Amino acid sequence: MAQGKLRLKNKERTLLLNSQVIEDYPWFHDLLKSNQRITEELIDSLSIDYQRFFDNMLNKVIGQATVEWEGNPQHPVDDLEDKRTPCTLCGQPTRWVFYIFNKWNGKNINVGSECVKHFGISVDKTGLTVDQLTKRATRAMDFRANELVVYDKTYGNM
Ligand SMILES: [Zn+2]
Repeated sequence: MAQGKLRLKNKERTLLLNSQVIEDYPWFHDLLKSNQRITEELIDSLSIDYQRFFDNMLNKVIGQATVEWEGNPQHPVDDLEDKRTPCTLCGQPTRWVFYIFNKWNGKNINVGSECVKHFGISVDKTGLTVDQLTKRATRAMDFRANELVVYDKTYGNM
């Protein structure tokens, strides 16, 4: 069976399902909940009003969903070094984990840097970029590793 071309990316579907704005469109919410893949064929099978929604409203609604999310101000990102955890939105294993929360419904999820960039999620109020934040997280890990070395040297022979 042909897979069918996606009209809505899976990460966009997941972002919408976790966002408050979806509650404004119950039929769209139901469509996303009951279909893992939102394909062109699926949309062609909908009524003309719903097809027009995809043409005229979809990008706006995704934009509204995106601005609901913000980085955790105390702890926006971790460097997992050689470990990986899947991005909640796209499922890709990620080394740098960004913690974001939804200002409207209070949900917390973790996402990879690619999805932060893809959606343009505001992860840092002070204006640091995604790349600057990941570098800073890596430096923090190095610093902790160095502290452990010092600790070993000081107390290793006790
Ligand atoms: Zn992702």
